[in-house]
Amino acid sequence: MMGMQSKSNVGYDAIVVGSGASGGWACKRLAEAGLKVALLEAGKPQSDANFTEHKPAFELKYRNRATELLRKTRPVQSVFDVCNEYTQDWFVNDLEEPYTTPKDQPFLWMGRVRMTGGRTNVWGRVSLRFSDWDLKAASHDGFGEDWPLSYKDLEPYYDLVEKYVGITGMAEGLEHLPDGQFQPPMPMTCQEILVRNRVKEKFGRTVTLARSANMTKPQNGRGPCHYCGPCERGCVTHSYFNSAFTTVADALRTGNCTLISNAMVHKVLMDETTKRAKGVLYVDRNTRETREVHARVVILCSQTQESTRILLNSGTSESAGGLANSSGALGHYLTAHVRSGGANGDMPAFDASPTMGGATKPVGIYVARFRNLKGQAPAKDFLRGFGYEGGSSVDFRWGAPGFGEAYKKALREPRVDFDLTGFGEVLPRMENRVEIDSEKKDIFGIPVLKIYMKDSDNERAMIKDMGDSAGEMLEAAGAKNIRTYAHPSAPRWALHEAGTARMGADPKKSVLNQFQQTHDVKNLFVMDASGFSSNPCQNPTLTIMTLCVRSCDYLMGEMKRGEI
Ligand SMILES: Cc1cc2nc3c(=O)[nH]c(=O)nc-3n(C[C@H](O)[C@H](O)[C@H](O)COP(=O)(O)OP(=O)(O)OC[C@H]3O[C@@H](n4cnc5c(N)ncnc54)[C@H](O)[C@@H]3O)c2cc1C
Ligand code: SF4
Repeated sequence: MMGMQSKSNVGYDAIVVGSGASGGWACKRLAEAGLKVALLEAGKPQSDANFTEHKPAFELKYRNRATELLRKTRPVQSVFDVCNEYTQDWFVNDLEEPYTTPKDQPFLWMGRVRMTGGRTNVWGRVSLRFSDWDLKAASHDGFGEDWPLSYKDLEPYYDLVEKYVGITGMAEGLEHLPDGQFQPPMPMTCQEILVRNRVKEKFGRTVTLARSANMTKPQNGRGPCHYCGPCERGCVTHSYFNSAFTTVADALRTGNCTLISNAMVHKVLMDETTKRAKGVLYVDRNTRETREVHARVVILCSQTQESTRILLNSGTSESAGGLANSSGALGHYLTAHVRSGGANGDMPAFDASPTMGGATKPVGIYVARFRNLKGQAPAKDFLRGFGYEGGSSVDFRWGAPGFGEAYKKALREPRVDFDLTGFGEVLPRMENRVEIDSEKKDIFGIPVLKIYMKDSDNERAMIKDMGDSAGEMLEAAGAKNIRTYAHPSAPRWALHEAGTARMGADPKKSVLNQFQQTHDVKNLFVMDASGFSSNPCQNPTLTIMTLCVRSCDYLMGEMKRGEI
C-alpha cells in the first residue's frame, strides 16, 4: 500500500483526516459509493512487510529488552507494552509531538499510532454494543445528557459493521449488552468455563467470551486466526481487524480514494464568504512543507483529542474559541475509562501445561456490567457501571525455589493465573477537558494540547467496587492467593477517550448533531469518538465505526439533495 503526495490543489468530494477505525470506514463507504476521497494520514503507509507476529525476540537487535532505550523517544507510548522494540516506529515520538497537563493531573495519552490504520494496528479488539441503557443513561439517573439517537437507529449499522469486521462471540440475550452478528466462538479455557459457571450460579452475573475482532472463519480474502498470539504486531493472514488491510484497502481498490501519507493536518480552512469548510492545511512530515487540499466536505477522523485539537486550532476571527464552537462545549466533557480496579488469583491447572511459543488464544473473557441496571436498586456510592476484561493464562513457575533437578521439576509445574481488570464509565464533566497550550508547539509548528483530567468521587467509589467485586467472583470460582487492587486512576490512561465535541439535540450544549455534522458548519463532520455524549463502560470502537457508517449515509443523502 503506497502513500501518495499531491502537490496541486485537487478538488475532491470529501477529505477524510485519519485512517484508523473511523477514517477507514468513512473512506470505504464514500469511495465505494463513487465519491472522490482524499484520505490524509499523519503517519506512514502500513504493509504486511512490517508485521512481525511470528518473529521471535531473539532475532531483534535488543531482544525486546532495551526498555530504557525505548523510553528515550517514547516515554509515554512505551508505558503500555504494545509499544515495544517490534512496533516502536509505529508510534509518535513523544518528544516531537508532545502534549501538556497540569502538574497535579497526569494523563498518559498512549496509543498515538502514526501509521495507516491508526490505533487499530495495535488495539485489543474487544467489540461490544451499546444499548439504550447507555444511550439514555441521563434519563435514568439524571446525570449529563442523553445521546440524540437510540439503539434502534444503530442496530442495522451494528449488524453491517460486525459482519464485515468479523467478530468471534457468544449470544447471551442481555438487554444491556445486545448480541450481535458473531462468527463462531473461540473456545474458552477450562478455568474460564469454571469462572463463568460459578459466577452465574452465585451472583447471576454473565461471564462470556470477550466479543473480539478476531475471525474464526475466512471472509473477504482474510484467513481465520491461527492462534499465534501477538496481534499487536500485525497479522499477515489479516485475521484481526485493522483498517489498514480492510476498510482502507477496500477504499483504495475502488480507484476513488487517494491516500496522502505523512500529512499532519493543522487546521480546517474556511471560505469566509460562504461560511463553509473549503479544505484543510497540512504539513508534510518529511519535507515540512505546508500544503492545502480542497473538497466539498471535510470529515475529521483523527481520534478524539486530535480531531478536537484540529478544530481548536482552526479558530477564525469570528470563532476565536475554535471552529464549530458556538456552544462553548468544544474541548469539554473529556471521558476515558477508569481501569485501575480488579483482581487476580491462582486457579487449578487441570490439564493445562506451559509451552514456549505454543498456540496462544488472543481472546479472553468479558464480565458484563452488573451495577445500576434496569430493575435493580442503585449502587449506593456511584452512578453507571463497569465490566471486566480478563481470562486465564498458563505459565512456568519462574520463581520456583530449589536447584538442579528439583528446580527443573518445580519450574515445569503449570501456574494458572486468572485476571479480571475493570473498565468503568467516567461521567462526562465540563471540567475534564482539552485546550490549546499557547506556550508549546510540536515539531511541525502546530500548537499542542493541554489535557485536564481527574477523578471525581464517582470514579473513586467505582474503582473500589471493581476491586471488591473482582475478588468475590474469583473467590466464588475457587481461586487461591487472590490479590485485589483498587488504585486511584492517576495517572489517568484508558486508550478509550471520547466526548470533546459531543453530539446533542441542542446546538447550545453540543458541537455535533446525531449524524456527527457540526451544528455550525454544514459541510464539516467529526466521525470519531469526540462525538460521544457519554462513554459507556463497553469498549468504544465498534460504536465509533457504526456511527461513522450511519453518518456517511446521511452525508451522502444530504449531498444528493444539494444540502451540502
Ligand atoms: C493498545 C490499545 C488497545 C485498545 N483496545 C481496544 C479494545 O479492545 N476495544 C476497543 O473498542 N477499543 C480499543 N482501543 C481503542 C481503539 O483503538 C480506538 O477507539 C479506535 O482506534 C479509535 O478510532 P479513531 O478512528 O478515532 O482513531 P485511530 O484509530 O487512532 O486513528 C486516528 C488516525 O488519525 C491520524 N491522525 C491523528 N492526527 C492527525 C492529523 N492532525 N492529521 C492527519 N492524521 C492524523 C493518526 O495518525 C491515526 O492513524 C485500544 C487502543 C489501544 C491503543
Ligand atoms: S493470534 Fe490470530 S489474529 Fe492475532 S496475529 Fe495471530 S493469527 Fe492474527
